[in-house]
Amino acid sequence: MSARTGKVTVTTENIFPIIRKWLYSDHDIFVRELVSNASDATTKLKRLVDLGQCSIDSDSELSIRISYNEKTGVLIIEDQGIGMTSDELDRYINQIAFSGAMDFVEKYKEKGGSDNSIIGHFGLGFYSAFMVADRVTIDTLSYVEGEKPVKWESEDGMEYTVSESDRTQRGTSITLTLSDEAKKMFDATKIKNILDKYCSFMPYPLFFTDVKRKLEHEKDQKKRAKEAESKKEEFLISEYTPLRVNPVAPLWQKAPKDCTDEEYISFYHQVFSDPRDPLFWIHLNLDYPFTLQGILYFPKTDNVYQTLEGRIKVYNQQVFVADNIEEIIPDFLFLLRGCLDCTDLPLNVSRSALQQDDYVQKLSSHIIRKVSDKLSSLFKKQREDYESYWDDIGVFVKYGMMKEDKFFDKAKAFMLFKTVEAQYLTYDELTEKHDAVRYTQAADKQAAYIDIATKKGYPVVVLDHEIDNNFISFMEFKLPSKRFMRVDAEFEGESHSEESYKRLTDHFKSVVQDSKLDIEVISLGVDSFPAFIRETEESRRMSEMKKQFEKMKKSGESDPYGNLDEMFPEKKDLVLNADHPLVARLMSYVEADSTDDSADIIINQLYDQARLSHGSLDAEGLKNFLQNHSTLLLNIIENRAGSVGGKE
Ligand code: ADP
Repeated sequence: MSARTGKVTVTTENIFPIIRKWLYSDHDIFVRELVSNASDATTKLKRLVDLGQCSIDSDSELSIRISYNEKTGVLIIEDQGIGMTSDELDRYINQIAFSGAMDFVEKYKEKGGSDNSIIGHFGLGFYSAFMVADRVTIDTLSYVEGEKPVKWESEDGMEYTVSESDRTQRGTSITLTLSDEAKKMFDATKIKNILDKYCSFMPYPLFFTDVKRKLEHEKDQKKRAKEAESKKEEFLISEYTPLRVNPVAPLWQKAPKDCTDEEYISFYHQVFSDPRDPLFWIHLNLDYPFTLQGILYFPKTDNVYQTLEGRIKVYNQQVFVADNIEEIIPDFLFLLRGCLDCTDLPLNVSRSALQQDDYVQKLSSHIIRKVSDKLSSLFKKQREDYESYWDDIGVFVKYGMMKEDKFFDKAKAFMLFKTVEAQYLTYDELTEKHDAVRYTQAADKQAAYIDIATKKGYPVVVLDHEIDNNFISFMEFKLPSKRFMRVDAEFEGESHSEESYKRLTDHFKSVVQDSKLDIEVISLGVDSFPAFIRETEESRRMSEMKKQFEKMKKSGESDPYGNLDEMFPEKKDLVLNADHPLVARLMSYVEADSTDDSADIIINQLYDQARLSHGSLDAEGLKNFLQNHSTLLLNIIENRAGSVGGKE
């Protein structure tokens, strides 16, 4: 075969400089493209073998080998696939229509070259090699008997030389000599990482040789062998073993009925490097109306989502496409981890087109449905297990309910509320007998209030996550027949407005020097505290909003806020427990017009105690309270000493 030269037929001149520049941010994809081609060529060969049109010695022949010498910048990707004849090279490589590249250039023009959101897959295929290489060589031998091996070489992807190759093995070897610039970006570790990222589930065994390491290893072995020889010792030279890129089989391809729990768990550990076991998982396996395979895991989170980087890896026929493609996976599902293989995913389109894509929307709905079906079935069939997962998945479910109507409709049946007594109740169970959902935001701090509510037979649920404030409003909006009410918002019991009580409350107001303070005397039981602060639910939400505004004001997000106190009026009343002996004693003091000021000390102390228990006593107040408290203790001890002394 005589050497010939030619020009690659392209429809746009000088496309490569643009591609090179453009793909700077996503230059890794050339590895994926070339390895995918090698894998495709192998699949084609396998098909021919299956059809009896070609024979191979063993399946081990079907591996793909990648080697990289970071010193010389030579990267070789070699397969034992179908190979190409000289004609095929012409057809597939030289006369490439560049549809993918054209599409790409169109996008480039449109977006001004700064849009990284396009999925890095444009079917650039083989030509992506020129993003990084100064020279690309193809050595190929077709499976067709009698065909000669062909060598194709090009320095810029525009002009090429074809000649006879000395390749003797069926298959193709692509050799890239990386440009100096690219060499700086890619060392052997980087290449291996890219292979791990994109190719760890490819269908044929993939091996990576770090040539520098290999040479070092061989040198070292020779040296040791020599040393051993001089000492007349035996030494067995060990060969360098290439690294297997894809040791883990993509479990999602197995039929769910054939997968064991151990397999699911071990797959999770290997793929997500999370030492903890997942809680449970969903195996997606759909052939119709579209093809979707995958496994979604619910990780252990303890509701600490800030540190949890959920990841859903999307593959297209076992080739990694991207993490967390939000058009396919609704964002609340990003708290999950998993692999999705979407065979029909249109890859060479922009993200905005993906959003409108009918297939993508169906895919997304299907995933949501599968997730809610799984949760629903766990709830119905394994309620105990489901409850044990709740602390980990609760925030996820709430978030999903707020984000996705479709999910809300299903999830309201299996959404759980955890009570202070660690019971898990659904919304219906919780509201069946009660007009409101009573909750606490801090079970330890609001113990006194919780005590009153539980004594009255109300379940009190803990809503202490950041998400809960929004979730409460959201639930009331969606299911307006019941309200949510914090435990300190209402007190049930007989209210007293008789004259004697009025005298007490008036006196109280004058002692604490707050004429606006509303005081109600209610019978709350002898074993409840004497005084409580009551803050209406509305006021609590107002103060929550005020806090948000204050934060914004501080960070200078926006200016004209006006007077926050006016905008968000807070309302905190005092409730005195008519049943408490201390309150009864105070009544008698007031009745008797006593001049003894110890009643006033007690009144101040009671008010502070109520505020302290409510969490609304400020620093100054706390200091006063503690000082008074010490004085009271001193009084007790002095009275005792006095009475002891009196006896002597
Ligand atoms: P695509 O893979 O999207 O078709 P490419 O530019 O990557 O585009 O490749 C063009 C064609 O070249 C392929 O369709 C295939 O026929 C041929 N080809 C590329 N790489 C190989 C290979 N390693 N072995 C055999 N044929 C190949």
